[in-house]
Amino acid sequence: MSQARFMDGTALARRIVENTAERAVALTDRTGTAPCLATVLVGEDPASATYVRMKQKRCRKAGITSRHVALPAAMTTAELVGALRELSAEPAVHGILLQHPVGDHIDERAAFEAIAPEKDVDGVTFASFAAMSFARPGFVSCTPGGIMRLLDEYDVDPAGKRAVVVGRSAILGKPVGMLLLARDATVTYCHSRTRDLPSVVREADIVVAAVGRPRLIGGADIKPGAVVIDAGYNAGTATGGADVDFDSAVTRAGLITPVPGGVGPMTIATLLEQTVDAATRQLGVHGA
Ligand code: NAP
Repeated sequence: MSQARFMDGTALARRIVENTAERAVALTDRTGTAPCLATVLVGEDPASATYVRMKQKRCRKAGITSRHVALPAAMTTAELVGALRELSAEPAVHGILLQHPVGDHIDERAAFEAIAPEKDVDGVTFASFAAMSFARPGFVSCTPGGIMRLLDEYDVDPAGKRAVVVGRSAILGKPVGMLLLARDATVTYCHSRTRDLPSVVREADIVVAAVGRPRLIGGADIKPGAVVIDAGYNAGTATGGADVDFDSAVTRAGLITPVPGGVGPMTIATLLEQTVDAATRQLGVHGA
C-alpha cells in the first residue's frame, strides 16, 4: 500500500519565523523601532484569549513587540470601530489583529474595515481580499497564505490543476480559493449546501478542507496521488479534529498535511512575517 509524503508545516514555519526574527532584529537596529503588532480582543472567550496570548508569545520570541487591547464584551460596533481607527492612526503600531469572533451584536465586517489596509497583517479587509483575488501585492489571509507557501515548498504548481476547496468562510475557504485561482488552478468551492460532496472531491488534484467537521472527507474519496491540505482543527477531539480521515486518505494521497503540524503552524508564521513586512514599509526601510 502506498503512503503519502507528509507536508511538514512545523519545519517550514520554523524556518520562516527564524528568518522573520532576523529581519525584526535588523530593522530594530537600523531604525531604533521594533515592529509592533496590536492584538484586539473583545470579551473574555477563553479560547480566543488563549489564541491571543499564544500570538503575543510568538511575537516576543521573534523580536516583535505587541500591544494588547482588551475590550469589554458589551461594547458597540461604533466603539470597536473607533478603537481600531485609533490603532490604525497610531505610528508605533505596524500591524493590527482583531481576534475573531467579536460577538454576534457587533458588525464584524465594519470592524475589519476600520483596520488600515497597510496594517492589515491578518488579511481580513476587503482591500486585502481584492489584492489576493487579483494577484496584486498586499497582505494575504494568514491561513490561506500559509497553505500556498506549503504548496510551493513541496513543488505543487496549482496551474491547470483541479482544486476543490471545502468551506467558504471569509478568513479561510474563500481567500484560499482566490489564491489558487490566481495561480491558474480550476477551482470549485463546496459548502454546507453542496450536493454529493464526495463526487466533487473525487475529481480533485488538490483538496483543501476548511470546514471544522472531523472526518467529513473520507479517504476513499481522495483521487490517487492528490494533494490533501487539511485546515480543519478542533481542539476538543483526540485526533485534533481534522476534516479528512487521515488514516484512509494517507494511503491514497500523494502529499498530505498532518493535523497537527501541517497548516496550523503556517498561520502564525505568516502573521509574524507580514507584521515585519508592514513595519519595514511603514518605517521607510527598503530591502530589510
Ligand atoms: P467556518 O467559518 O465555520 O466555515 C466553515 C465552512 O464549512 C462554511 O463555509 C460551511 O458552509 C462549510 N461546511 C459546513 N458543513 C459542511 C458540510 N457538511 N459540507 C461541506 N461544507 C460544510 O469555519 P472557518 O473559520 O473557515 O474554519 C474552518 C476550520 O479550519 C475549523 O476547523 C477551524 O478551526 C480551522 N481553522 C484552522 C486554522 C489554522 O490555523 N489551522 C485557522 C483558521 C481556521 P456554509 O458557508 O454553507 O455555512
